Amino acid sequence: MRSNSARRGSSRFAKKVGEIRPTQLLHSSGVGALIDLPNLSVMVMGLDEWDLTHSTVLTEQRLLAQVKRRLGDQVEQLLMPPAVQEGNGFGNDALGYENLVGVPCSPFPRWMVCPVCKTLAPLSSGLFNLDPKPFAPERSRFVHTNCRAKKPPAVLPVRFMVACEAGHLDDFPWVDFVHRGEKCERPQLRLEEFGVSGEAADVQVKCTNCGSSRRMSAAFGEQALYRGAALAQVLCVAGAALLLGEGRRPVPP
Ligand SMILES: [Zn+2]
Ligand SMILES: [Zn+2]
Ligand SMILES: [Zn+2]
Repeated sequence: MRSNSARRGSSRFAKKVGEIRPTQLLHSSGVGALIDLPNLSVMVMGLDEWDLTHSTVLTEQRLLAQVKRRLGDQVEQLLMPPAVQEGNGFGNDALGYENLVGVPCSPFPRWMVCPVCKTLAPLSSGLFNLDPKPFAPERSRFVHTNCRAKKPPAVLPVRFMVACEAGHLDDFPWVDFVHRGEKCERPQLRLEEFGVSGEAADVQVKCTNCGSSRRMSAAFGEQALYRGAALAQVLCVAGAALLLGEGRRPVPP
């Protein structure tokens, strides 16, 4: 599994962040699935982002015929997930080319929280940088580079996101939510927790630029608003209602 840049098919900036068995890819962890790694939460990207250079063709004519019967004649061939076969001459170099071959994934949710200073920001803010671990890829993490902590601490994927009934996921609308739809020139968010319950009522998002704050409990239930409309009435691109979902709880620092 490799974390990809937004650039299609480009493995130049990709980093290996973990491993997954081919059977997992076929079942629970296919395209669009969220995978929990020790410090990262990633989503498997669509097939159009896969680099198939290292995909072996399956030469099972009867299986191909079966698949065609079900899906149609446009299916030309069956491929294994991209992987570098052993004994290919690439060697076993953790920093080597073979570690750039794999299934592309992308961090999701894209908002992270710093456990030390509570900064809540999207990865696109540039505040958090990937700290890859070539020799232990599954321990790769994002760190808060300019945190007040002495050593840049590992940041955690925020545990709130929105999902529709058909399973489409999106980031929680943090900026809209805390500002109740009002404008803020330079939003700077923090996610604060009171007590150890971890319940939504004890979690507050705050903008240190304008002073707005809001408890997460306001995002749940029928009164919940999403982009100015009741959350339950807003439709996703595919036409299903958006609901608020909760991901895993962050591990205390
Ligand atoms: Zn920090
Ligand atoms: Zn949907
Ligand atoms: Zn603000």
